[in-house]
Amino acid sequence: MKKRIVLYKRLSDALLARLHQHVEVTYVDTTGKDGLARLRDALPGAHGLLGASLRLDHSLLDLAPQLQVVSSVSVGVDNYDIAELTRRGVLLTNTPDVLTETTADTGFALILASARRVVELANWVRDGHWQANLGPSHFGCDVHGKTLGIVGMGRIGEALARRGAAGFGMRVLYHSSRPKPEVDARHGAQYRSLDALLSEADFVCLTVPLSSSTEELIGARELALMKPEAILVNIARGRVVNERALIDALREQRIRAAGLDVFVQEPLPVDSPLLHLANVVATPHIGSATQETREAMARCAVENLLSALAGQRPANLVNEQAWGNGQPNNTIAT
Ligand code: NAP
Repeated sequence: MKKRIVLYKRLSDALLARLHQHVEVTYVDTTGKDGLARLRDALPGAHGLLGASLRLDHSLLDLAPQLQVVSSVSVGVDNYDIAELTRRGVLLTNTPDVLTETTADTGFALILASARRVVELANWVRDGHWQANLGPSHFGCDVHGKTLGIVGMGRIGEALARRGAAGFGMRVLYHSSRPKPEVDARHGAQYRSLDALLSEADFVCLTVPLSSSTEELIGARELALMKPEAILVNIARGRVVNERALIDALREQRIRAAGLDVFVQEPLPVDSPLLHLANVVATPHIGSATQETREAMARCAVENLLSALAGQRPANLVNEQAWGNGQPNNTIAT
């Protein structure tokens, strides 16, 4: 008999067909006020879950005692209680690598947009204000030749470093959990303490995962270390920054600007002060949001899920410890 999976993300016809070959699929739309109730109804008997951005609490997991795998269509796994999944012997998989370059493109889009005031001035033109030549009050700042500071030198961090060094002739500094001589060699990057990076960089770009060690890594003290002409770009997670302190720093122009793809609360509330500051470029968590990359992520998640349900070690296993907790006994033919 085919195993059952609950899908809470829309997939392309090709990927759905791939799933239907091997498993019984129940699609649940988790949006809207009844979304969670629909998910609860679908969970009993589920062997696998596939989707993104859902907080799977104990009460939801209790409804799915046969659950073997949660296949997340994301690289970030901060919304899962990994210890609890591991304790229950449930594998958690994610989709690294396939989104690295696209997310680094988003980082650079935010660097350029905030430095050159692209969104603010495009709106200014649209609103009919372009009646004469521009003056210094409309000028932005250069990106090329400046100092790029990357916080979190992992996959996306290195893709940003490559763009900065090779494409824009930037000096690249980074802070990470440890120095990475191989990255230094590839991009001429230099390791710094967080404080030194904040005080030297013209662009501070955040690419760390959200964890207990990175939550509010950037607060009032850290923002005060940045140069008044520096720009903060966050493509990691909203909670890596103390948003209140950031709003104050931007409002008082203690830093020049911010390019933000992620927020403490998403969707960003329409009354957020961030939306009323001219020196903020806010995008709706589009880091990996291209057709090609979202399809590649979904494909990766489908293969992770099918491997796990077939008793094979999935390529992108997050909780290694859960592997071996009886998983290989529960197999399907793929
Ligand atoms: P990654 O390869 O694991 O890179 C993360 C880097 O951060 C690693 O080098 C890690 O060090 C470092 N790090 C971890 N904790 C740290 C700390 N406390 N202080 C300093 N450095 C620390 O992950 P990735 O694929 O580049 O993705 C990074 C994050 O970007 C994801 O977790 C996700 O939250 C976010 N993201 C956002 C979007 C979006 O749509 N905006 C899209 C994709 C990803 P080690 O190498 O020593 O582990």
